[in-house]
Amino acid sequence: MYDDFIKKRLKLICAEKEDVIMKMPKQSKDLNAYLNQHFLCDCGREHYASLRAVRIGEGALEELPKLVKIMGFQSLYLISDHITYSIAGNQCANILTEAGIPNKIVQLSHMGFDEATLGELTIQMPENCDLIIAVGTGAINDIARYFSYKMNRPFCTVATAAPMDGFASSIAAIQVNHLKTTFDAQTPIAIIGDTNILKSAPYSMIAAGLGDLLGKFTCLCDWKLAHIITGEHCCEHIIELMESCATNILADADKVKERDPETLGKVMEGLVLAGVAMSLYGNSRPASGCEHHMSHYWEMMFEQSGKKPVPHGTQVGVGTVLVLKLVEQLLRTDVDFDAARAAARAYDLVEWKENIRIAYGPAADGVIAMEAKSQKNATADRLKRIDTMQARWAEITALLKTLPSSQRIMSLLRSLESPCLPSEIAVDSTMLKNTFLYCKEVRARYTILQMVWDLGLLDRLSDNVISDLLDEKD
Ligand SMILES: [Zn+2]
Ligand SMILES: [Zn+2]
Repeated sequence: MYDDFIKKRLKLICAEKEDVIMKMPKQSKDLNAYLNQHFLCDCGREHYASLRAVRIGEGALEELPKLVKIMGFQSLYLISDHITYSIAGNQCANILTEAGIPNKIVQLSHMGFDEATLGELTIQMPENCDLIIAVGTGAINDIARYFSYKMNRPFCTVATAAPMDGFASSIAAIQVNHLKTTFDAQTPIAIIGDTNILKSAPYSMIAAGLGDLLGKFTCLCDWKLAHIITGEHCCEHIIELMESCATNILADADKVKERDPETLGKVMEGLVLAGVAMSLYGNSRPASGCEHHMSHYWEMMFEQSGKKPVPHGTQVGVGTVLVLKLVEQLLRTDVDFDAARAAARAYDLVEWKENIRIAYGPAADGVIAMEAKSQKNATADRLKRIDTMQARWAEITALLKTLPSSQRIMSLLRSLESPCLPSEIAVDSTMLKNTFLYCKEVRARYTILQMVWDLGLLDRLSDNVISDLLDEKD
């Protein structure tokens, strides 16, 4: 996509890594070791993440002119809005100017970035601009990711908050015709997270970022279960990389409350790493499991009713608590595999479709079409999975027992004054029951929820969780 001229410049920040295929490290290494490097892996796949440089820490913003100079960019176009301009945009422009790097900063005038924003960006863009810098998070990154891609210019991110793991994503969600639509875009070449800036982010955003990371425990467990039960391909090294990062952060998570810069830096690094892990693997398996399916389902439901959902990471935190509670119920249950087989044989597709229409409303057609293609609920395969589960049940329960307890995650979220119960994020009892039974249908991906459903226990165990939650509230 880039012309050769820009390609050559990009080589400069990682010259020593070019053109050598390395073996994927067995032990987790520093995040930068995984960037712009081709790896051959024991898992049989080649891994590559195109992100070039990540600088996170106190004063990391000072690195910006250096990175820009190494790459030889000469005319910068900074994208901010009124809020991020005062948080970091102004400062970025100043340090670049002091370093003698020509730049222009635009302050976008409205939120809900759409076609008009893209028009505004096009009009303001300097003719000779060779690098775009997004100053912000979420929506600003999405618009810069897409705009730079369309303009055939590379882009960097200077983060003002770290509320979710979308930094290294290559798709962008933008409002078109008043509808949020996802487009192909590009990943940034560099991401900067200055903890002096991140620590001033709104507290709800900080807690949301942690929530998104806590979801990695259940999501990685989903992946390992899928590997055992369905034989789905998995990469142990990527799992290990994400898991050790999530475990490290959980150990220090209490310091998030004090806005400890080092811990906030670790959280941001974990969120960037999640994006890198998705790039390395080639899809979102390393960072998104059934806790994310819950969040996707809620987002759809809120959108249908015109309500504004809480931040993605906050929803994922609540989803993680729900999944952990379901696992705890499962571990307390004496699983009857013959009853599971009977449940599989009694499955009624017509009844399932009726329930999907109730649970998904106008979105039901897409869900039904996806199931027609993926056949993940089909009885013959479900029976095979039940056989595998029965044969490997000790291994499966041992794996489930490695998860953190729901109480640990709940008390952590509570201590951060972040929601931990569905009722605290406007998910009512009907929506909650539908979440347990049907959110797994948003993707054709094998997860804990699909496993509990395979066993014919999803209805009963989710009822137990729901009554357990009512006790929590009292
Ligand atoms: Zn997420
Ligand atoms: Zn691998």
